[in-house]
Amino acid sequence: MKIAIYPGSFDPITLGHLNLIKRASRVFDKLIVCVMVNSAKTPLFTVEERLAQIREVVSRFDNVEVDFWDGLVAEYARKKQARVIVRGLRALSDYEKECQMAIINKKINPEVETFFLAASEKYMYLSSSAVKEMAAFGADLSEFAPRELIAAIEERIRNRQGK
Ligand code: ADP
Repeated sequence: MKIAIYPGSFDPITLGHLNLIKRASRVFDKLIVCVMVNSAKTPLFTVEERLAQIREVVSRFDNVEVDFWDGLVAEYARKKQARVIVRGLRALSDYEKECQMAIINKKINPEVETFFLAASEKYMYLSSSAVKEMAAFGADLSEFAPRELIAAIEERIRNRQGK
């Protein structure tokens, strides 16, 4: 069985992430979307909230699982007997950081390969940060964030702004 891991912060999950999940789930037998715990960042949503949000929006994919891990993704891949890490490449700016991570992951776990999926044209410039910024200015999120999560994102941003 070909298992792939799609690691990320997903704070929050966007339609760009979801597009990648849909495409990768067609290529691999099982795709595990893994929320990585990054203690250096102050997230908008807790890990538990992000897990629930992702589970809600990927429930229509039979071969997609959702999990979290507070260690190295290369170790997680070993634990899950996955040979592939999937990452998305958007504009050129992703390239250097992603190559560096792929090399480090390969050093830690030589069995693992990183597969890059090119972002779809529509989502090339979409990121979780952009969604948060748009929400802060009251923009319409319907083309960028999963429909089910828009109200929760707007509410959390409002609370953060103290409104
Ligand atoms: P991280 O903090 O690990 O970069 P993100 O949640 O920001 O976590 O992104 C997870 C992965 O999804 C990364 O490989 C990123 O390049 C990819 N990604 C994010 N947004 C998009 C998008 N709009 N289209 C394609 N890939 C994306």
